[in-house]
Amino acid sequence: MAGTTMVPERILRVIILAVFMPVTFLAVFFAAPAAMVHTVPMAEAKQVEYYLQAASEVNEKYGLEVKWQEILALDTVLLGQNFSQSSVERAKRLAAEFVQKEVVETEEVEAKVNVLYKQVPLDKVMVACRLSSEQKDQVSLFLKMIGSRGLVSDVIPDGWVPSGRGQFIWPLPKGQYTITSLFGPRVLNGVAGFHRGLDMGAPQGTPIFAAADGTVINCGWLGQAGRAIIVRHAGEFETRYYHLSRINVRAGQTVKQGTVIGLVGSTGNSTGNHLHFEIRRRKTALDPLSFY
Ligand SMILES: [Zn+2]
Repeated sequence: MAGTTMVPERILRVIILAVFMPVTFLAVFFAAPAAMVHTVPMAEAKQVEYYLQAASEVNEKYGLEVKWQEILALDTVLLGQNFSQSSVERAKRLAAEFVQKEVVETEEVEAKVNVLYKQVPLDKVMVACRLSSEQKDQVSLFLKMIGSRGLVSDVIPDGWVPSGRGQFIWPLPKGQYTITSLFGPRVLNGVAGFHRGLDMGAPQGTPIFAAADGTVINCGWLGQAGRAIIVRHAGEFETRYYHLSRINVRAGQTVKQGTVIGLVGSTGNSTGNHLHFEIRRRKTALDPLSFY
């Protein structure tokens, strides 16, 4: 009796493994973050102008209040964040999606035709553009990122992950940092300045990785930067890591991408444990986020 019941049980177990496990796996897999944004920032200032222009033209012509940020966020997704394809014409075509022409006929003594223009809300435009639900989520993420400067706002949305597709890897371990200050103009203690790097709050002692292969050209105490490391890379690039609690390398040393070169701290002009990370090319500081 025991022998005969064992067989079906075993078969049942095989069925459970063969059918339910993959189903569970797929369910978990697809339930993962619905929207991921891979590259930040998006359009260059010159390209942002296209969307500003397109929106203001539509608004003037039809008396509407179409938002350029919505057009830009939508096109960010439609272009897959590749703005080399953007143009004024393209922005204008997209802006037109936000306008609905309504013909109202009145039958009085003489038939009259009145044309009205109504604004189409973003969610309807997204349907008209046949966006998937993931793409719709991305549009709203981008919308949150577009600030007054047109590029990125002061916050990085929750769904954003560094892509790691470029030449540099992210200098801190995944999930162990919070971006606290972006690259660009900022006012600090009432003084307008330009923040040349990206600040990432992280616990003291968090390992810092060399973003790419290179040579340490300077390290040690560098004034306001506190304990700092500067690494030179191919293509006239250099990366800088400031406010460290510990330096693991010495000047002249070659490092591999991913080498732990130091630990997060709060040395120099710093109010808390964080890494100030810079990417420079020919001495000009560039927005680190544009490399991920
Ligand atoms: Zn900083």
